[in-house]
Amino acid sequence: MGRYTNSQLRYALVYVVITSIALLILNIFCSNISQELFNKNKEVAMIERCQLAADEISKLEVINPSTVSDAVSRMESMNVTRLIVTDHTGLIIHDTYQTGSRYALFPEIVQAMAGNDVFSCHYHDGAMQSQAATPIVSYKTTLGCVYMMEYDTEQGSLIQSLQTNVLRITLILEFVVILFSFAFANTFSRRLRQIMHSMHIIQQGDYSHKVKLGGRDELTFLGDEFNDLTERLQTSEQKRHRFVSDASHELKTPLASIKLLTDSILQNDMDMSTVREFVEDIGNEADRLNRTTSKLLSLARIDGQQIQESEIINMAPTVEKVVHMLSGIAKKNGITMECDLTQDSPVLILEDDLYQIAFNLVENGIKYNVPGGNLTVRLLRQDDNALLQVSDTGMGIPEEALGHIFERFFRVDKSRSRASGGSGLGLSIVRTIVQRNRGDISVESQLGKGTTFTVSFPIFDTEVDEE
Ligand code: ADP
Repeated sequence: MGRYTNSQLRYALVYVVITSIALLILNIFCSNISQELFNKNKEVAMIERCQLAADEISKLEVINPSTVSDAVSRMESMNVTRLIVTDHTGLIIHDTYQTGSRYALFPEIVQAMAGNDVFSCHYHDGAMQSQAATPIVSYKTTLGCVYMMEYDTEQGSLIQSLQTNVLRITLILEFVVILFSFAFANTFSRRLRQIMHSMHIIQQGDYSHKVKLGGRDELTFLGDEFNDLTERLQTSEQKRHRFVSDASHELKTPLASIKLLTDSILQNDMDMSTVREFVEDIGNEADRLNRTTSKLLSLARIDGQQIQESEIINMAPTVEKVVHMLSGIAKKNGITMECDLTQDSPVLILEDDLYQIAFNLVENGIKYNVPGGNLTVRLLRQDDNALLQVSDTGMGIPEEALGHIFERFFRVDKSRSRASGGSGLGLSIVRTIVQRNRGDISVESQLGKGTTFTVSFPIFDTEVDEE
């Protein structure tokens, strides 16, 4: 795990950087807007006052220091830091600073002489210095100009406190963002690491291990899915293990018999007829071995095989073939076979599969029958299904074994089944084949009275058929 970088931490970092940039831009924007708003306000107020003064002065009959000074003192709200009134050459007529200089040629005054209303403002060291100038105009002639300067610490500190507050809020927000981003990233990574750790444990072969994640998010869902997967893996691993051990046991038994028989022949002095008997037994065991391996092979084949091209066929001809094939053995065992294949129906199936199903069921009906017993093979219809029914009047199956007979290597009476060449694989093969052909199989049995196996497939009726 050490080789991998922490992606969540990387996402959190990217997130923090993006929010920092956004907050910084917002901060600058807020400060600028607030300052601009203050400036605009100031500009309007100061220009208005300059114009008011210029208006009053323009009405004077004679413009000289005493008339201007009178006029200024008459006007209310002229308490600015500095007020200068000049004539059209820039010569000072009135100056609240009384610096002694005769000309005031500030850039604002020069521009105002050209007929403009001028305003400028600078902000530094917590104070705001604003300057405004307007021309004094009478009958379209510029007589001079009014210049005002205001040094405002109150407004300056207001702007400064606003900017500090915005900055403070920004920093707090950023801190919260960083805190949450890393907390979330850490929780997410921890949970992810938990899953990865579990994966590692399961990879080592401990299928019983479970991922335990709290919460109800996607990771919990992922953990649950992962647990389901390992559960299925565990089940299939157990099945595989059981199958391998059962199969090797099945193969070992006849091999052990063969070894015992050959040892007996080699170690004892026997007459020819006894040797022949022993060799016959060896042959029987070899046959059984052969049958078991071919069933195992066919099981392995159908397990890994997808259904091949099925065809729509009538069931009767195939079932008839099976019955014909096994009639000799039935006769030998004293079993009477009856057939009723009149209710034949077309089904979608692989013919070889149908043959194998019918063969295994009829063969079992003979094998597990009693001398003088009956075996009936019927084709029936029920709703939209075609049924193949194989009933015998044999030994029957005990109730507790009914649920297991389709399991691999299961045999009710091991010695009898083995004696009749059974491997416990036939019904398991039948069920797998039935299911892969979209069919169903069921069994009914009464101990000592007989057994009925019913296989059903959906009828594949392309045309309306008449009985
Ligand atoms: P086997 O190869 O041993 O016959 P199967 O899978 O075909 O294996 O059958 C499993 C077990 O079910 C048999 O061993 C037998 O005990 C029981 N069984 C199957 N068919 C019948 C039947 N028609 N009547 C009684 N018992 C049966």
